Amino acid sequence: MEPIVVVGGGIAGLGAAWTLRKQGLPVLVLEAWDQVGGVVRSRRLDDGTVLDLGPQTLSTRDPELLATLEEVGLRGRRLEASHEGARRYVVHDGAPVALPSGPVGLLRTPLLSAQGKLRLLSEPFRGSGSGNEEAREGSDESVAAFARRRLGPEVAARLVDPFVSGVYAGDPEALSVAAVLPELQMMEREHGSLLRGGLERLWARRGGNASDDDAEDAARRSRICSFDEGLQAWPIAVARALGPDTVRTGTRVEGITPRSGSSGQGWRVHLSGSSSGANETVDARAVVLAVPAAVTASLLEGLGERASSPPHPLVEEGIHALTRIPYAPVTLVHLIWRRDRIAHSLDGFGLLAPSREGRTLLGSLWPDTIFPDRNRTDRVVTVNFVGGARTPDRALVPDEPLVAEVLRELEDLLGARGEPELALVTRWPRAIPQYTRGHLDRIAAVARVEEALPGLRLIGNWRGGVSLGAAWEGGRKAARGFG
Ligand SMILES: Cc1cc2nc3c(=O)[nH]c(=O)nc-3n(C[C@H](O)[C@H](O)[C@H](O)COP(=O)(O)OP(=O)(O)OC[C@H]3O[C@@H](n4cnc5c(N)ncnc54)[C@H](O)[C@@H]3O)c2cc1C
Repeated sequence: MEPIVVVGGGIAGLGAAWTLRKQGLPVLVLEAWDQVGGVVRSRRLDDGTVLDLGPQTLSTRDPELLATLEEVGLRGRRLEASHEGARRYVVHDGAPVALPSGPVGLLRTPLLSAQGKLRLLSEPFRGSGSGNEEAREGSDESVAAFARRRLGPEVAARLVDPFVSGVYAGDPEALSVAAVLPELQMMEREHGSLLRGGLERLWARRGGNASDDDAEDAARRSRICSFDEGLQAWPIAVARALGPDTVRTGTRVEGITPRSGSSGQGWRVHLSGSSSGANETVDARAVVLAVPAAVTASLLEGLGERASSPPHPLVEEGIHALTRIPYAPVTLVHLIWRRDRIAHSLDGFGLLAPSREGRTLLGSLWPDTIFPDRNRTDRVVTVNFVGGARTPDRALVPDEPLVAEVLRELEDLLGARGEPELALVTRWPRAIPQYTRGHLDRIAAVARVEEALPGLRLIGNWRGGVSLGAAWEGGRKAARGFG
């Protein structure tokens, strides 16, 4: 039987391939790079230190994904986040301040003024959409406008802004609340208030006993994890379990064409020329494209060029929509320090810097606190993020001045002194897709391409969520469509 070909061996592609295999369907994964994982990349240094060069943590409570991790042989290799790793800092007036972990902490936090707290507490009494042009007209409201309207300008600038840069490296003024935080929009609709909705959920979970300790425990139960060899252990284990005949790395797909044969509709997948110069093709009963939005668009464009008939108008619209999904660049600066070089105890997940602080750093994560058993204890790694949608140019600064600037900021924020033992710069020019206003309309246009072209599925982190868990789930959902 012809396989279902999955183009792209990132988390979305592997989620699709694994689910297809579980459904007993033949599958072939074609990955351009010489390793699987996409942006999930880990490296072990000569001294044994494990670094993640892309994403740092997997956050999931999904029982099916957790079972898969066991099935592919990661039982005993999974590291759960430490209790300390639940604490998060936000830079406020030039210094890191711990985020409150519950309602009592929120009342006491120096992150908000008395006026900001009162504004927040008045949230349940504000009607939906009051005084807001975007909301009133039913247009796609930005995350920032939604946060200001519901929670007040202080919470928007001091808490929501760093959260958005932490997850999306994004600009809250540009991101669509319907695409990025649909559950909050739903809460407003169902409960008329985020605070009321949030508290009702919390109380329902706790049986009416919501202390700050409980809240911290709940955060931990979101099951943040990684692996002994870093996050890439996960895609590597999945690919190994699928087998080398199923996962071909170093194989770039340069085109797909629909094909009708005796066994019905199918696809021909064109691979880039081999070293002998011969162009190889693979016949597939269906194709799952699990590649970034721009690559998806160019493979769909090629469809028009290769076919004799004119391109379907829905495909043209889908291509147009895909090319309008912007990506933010992010550069990671890993610094390895002797432990006594940093005055701050690094007792948390890391810190995030709101844009009002005017920092080069978007944030700094402390993986050795999150996963204390992985690396040696006399050293400590800080993973520093620069760039994002709002300050993309900073991601392009050359290595030397970039490292110098990050060092200056860590000296200021964490009391880091002297030179680190190692500085490593990793650049992701197109790191994270931005779900800007109008995103859901663009995704609807892409979904119509799937209706127009049977046997073709389009997935990846540009739709359905940017987290690792969402990318995996997107792959799994697409695969179930073939079951
Ligand atoms: C710096 C950074 C930090 C992040 N931090 C976190 C985090 O801590 N937690 C979290 O949950 N998420 C995080 N994310 C987001 C998350 O990692 C990604 O959204 C997710 O891994 C994307 O998976 P994907 O499969 O959709 O895409 P990708 O990982 O981009 O995979 C696409 C694959 O397609 C391949 N490909 C492209 N073109 C072709 C072609 N023509 N033929 C064959 N193959 C092709 C690529 O080589 C790649 O392997 C982070 C992302 C980045 C960049």
